[in-house]
Amino acid sequence: ETLNKGLEKTKTSFFSKLSKAVLGKTQVDDEVLDNLEEVLVTSDVGIETTLKIIGRIQDRASKDKYVSTSELNTILKEEIAALLVGDTVPDSKEFEIPETGGLPYVIMVVGVNGVGKTTTIGKLASHYHKNGKKVVLGAADTFRAAAVEQLELWGKRVGVPVISHGMNTDPAAVAFDAVKQAVDMKADVVIIDTAGRLHTKVNLMNELSKIKRVIQKFIPEAPHDVMLVLDGSTGQNAVIQAREFTKATEVTSLAITKLDGTAKGGVVIGISDQFQIPVRYIGVGEKMEDLQVFNKHEFVDSLFE
Ligand code: GDP
Repeated sequence: ETLNKGLEKTKTSFFSKLSKAVLGKTQVDDEVLDNLEEVLVTSDVGIETTLKIIGRIQDRASKDKYVSTSELNTILKEEIAALLVGDTVPDSKEFEIPETGGLPYVIMVVGVNGVGKTTTIGKLASHYHKNGKKVVLGAADTFRAAAVEQLELWGKRVGVPVISHGMNTDPAAVAFDAVKQAVDMKADVVIIDTAGRLHTKVNLMNELSKIKRVIQKFIPEAPHDVMLVLDGSTGQNAVIQAREFTKATEVTSLAITKLDGTAKGGVVIGISDQFQIPVRYIGVGEKMEDLQVFNKHEFVDSLFE
């Protein structure tokens, strides 16, 4: 229900455009496909992914000879779900931590300022904590005083330790201490906040690889997850950020925030397809329960319900 409400703007805009695209038509023909292409592009799905979807519908229309416009919703749903990269936690709404053989599961969180990185980390920490997991947070976004302070605030609010050395300290040293602390106290999960300064890509790359190296002194296979946080309401800007970050480091999952209050929710489909990275979480509001485990079928259903 939260999901439906959170995606309302995307849905409303998508549907009014979609109904115009098929107005007065009974069969999916070239004109309908042209209109549909425009609907998808203006819904921020992105041109490449849009062309893929159109191509698939075209294939079906030419194979089956006749596809009625009333079938179009079902077909679109199927094709969009097929394009979304598989769910990380199939058919689950739970905030689960994969098995790591007794060592803490390490999540390194990357993303530019303002996208909702700290909020997402706080919400995640809260969910894990509520599920009885031991959580440690690492304030390795040492570039901004506000980032360190906010993470500490979240730690207090949720009741989990935050490892911090303050502003302008070495991020890798913070990560080192956070993972060390997590191992010492047999924590289940450690979430490390990092700085996202895209304008200095070489620095970003170096900083992230240095953080990885120190973490691996404790846990060779860590970080288990490098999560990129993107602001869905920025549409194609989020795509550009995804491109830059995937060049700087290996990204293994996505959290797409602020899908409430935007009609650009189609960006979830485009980014997942274009970068072949699973969307793990979506943010549909500022409250705790507004961070949701992404389930592609639920997502598609709520777009078309
Ligand atoms: P950071 O700079 O990336 O750490 O960003 P913050 O976590 O400080 O978030 C920036 C703002 O976005 C804050 O006001 C958050 O409450 C807000 N925010 C984060 N996620 C969401 C979301 O899913 N929906 C809405 N509406 N606001 C969000």
